[in-house]
Amino acid sequence: MVGTVAVGGDAPISVQSMTTTKTADVEGTLAQIYALAGAGADIVRCTCNEIEAAEGLAQIVPRSPVPIIADIHHQYRMALAAIEAGVQCLRLNPGNIRKPEHIKAVAQECRDHNIPIRIGVNGGSLDPDLYTKHGGKITAEAMVESAQRELAFFEEVGFDDVKISVKASNVALMIEAYRMMADTMDYPLHLGVTEAGPPPAGLIKATAGIATLLAEGIGDTIRYSLTADPVEEAKAGRQLLEALGLRERKGLDLIACPSCGRAEVDVIDVATRAQAALDGLNVPIQVAVMGCVVNGPGEAREADIGIAAGRRRGHLFVKGKVVKVVPEHQMVGALVEWAKLVASDGVEAALEFADDDAAAEAEKDRAALLDAKGDVNHTEQIIEEIHRKTDRPGPAISLVDGEA
Ligand code: SF4
Repeated sequence: MVGTVAVGGDAPISVQSMTTTKTADVEGTLAQIYALAGAGADIVRCTCNEIEAAEGLAQIVPRSPVPIIADIHHQYRMALAAIEAGVQCLRLNPGNIRKPEHIKAVAQECRDHNIPIRIGVNGGSLDPDLYTKHGGKITAEAMVESAQRELAFFEEVGFDDVKISVKASNVALMIEAYRMMADTMDYPLHLGVTEAGPPPAGLIKATAGIATLLAEGIGDTIRYSLTADPVEEAKAGRQLLEALGLRERKGLDLIACPSCGRAEVDVIDVATRAQAALDGLNVPIQVAVMGCVVNGPGEAREADIGIAAGRRRGHLFVKGKVVKVVPEHQMVGALVEWAKLVASDGVEAALEFADDDAAAEAEKDRAALLDAKGDVNHTEQIIEEIHRKTDRPGPAISLVDGEA
């Protein structure tokens, strides 16, 4: 347990992030912790690099909405001060605190205070003698050995309330190290690609590493290490877990088509404005923005609410049923209004507000577009071919391979 959050075993995968404020700035740090918690962080880490930071932690911990981990690098005394401050977990970098007596002193205190420790091995700050031993390279074996060494010190003082991370900025190396850890030990694993950098490349690297391992059943808690506002880290972590079905969706899921030559509207603009308008909607609904009415409503029929563009109008649909047709300039406003209606009253109630003529109006637009631009899906041909194969009425027309 990290405070009230279970980590490991059957517990849900948790999301972590780290504050970027000076920990001595109690109000500023708390404001960021609240923002991170609101964005999906279950646990937040704060640096404890000086005595003023430890003093700040003593005030932050009782007022924080989520458990706090103190990040300790070079000074073991800061670990002891953070324990005194009441933090719910420590993160120790074994590459930076190397004296056995210091490591054991911290582990003893954690044992006595029931505080877990994350052994946070980092490829970039590997213990120099391990680096030399492994051929002057950062290898998965060297990172795993670093964690094992730290564990051995902990075992000497009877402490085993441990999580482990073996992060590297190289995604392939990080994946290899975590797989090796999972094969050799049974401790909960904290996943991350360290120094992933700014989005979008940082997001891609972190997702490649974390998602690969989670899909293999490896990992218990995650952190995106982005060069960005940490709120983006928390959001990304939460969204990844929701996308993988590892956490229940608790907020908006905006899906949008990638747009193509058939688009009847600037999909990027509509989707961006809809996302901005609905961002604070903390209700698990799926909203779709589709560029054309020919394919859009069908492809997004599972969405709770969506809009598709056609002939300078927007077709609003709820669970695939057209409920309203609005002029193009009202598309975003109508989508937001109906999304809020679905969020507050539910799908069935929203369907009762459908305009009587909406479906017929929508069909008119769709038919006119098909007439003007052709049916890329060759719907007529497909139906006739199905009829032919099932011996039902209809002329026998062969489909050209690949066209459908
Ligand atoms: Fe193209 Fe329409 Fe599909 Fe969007 S929904 S990608 S505009 S065919």
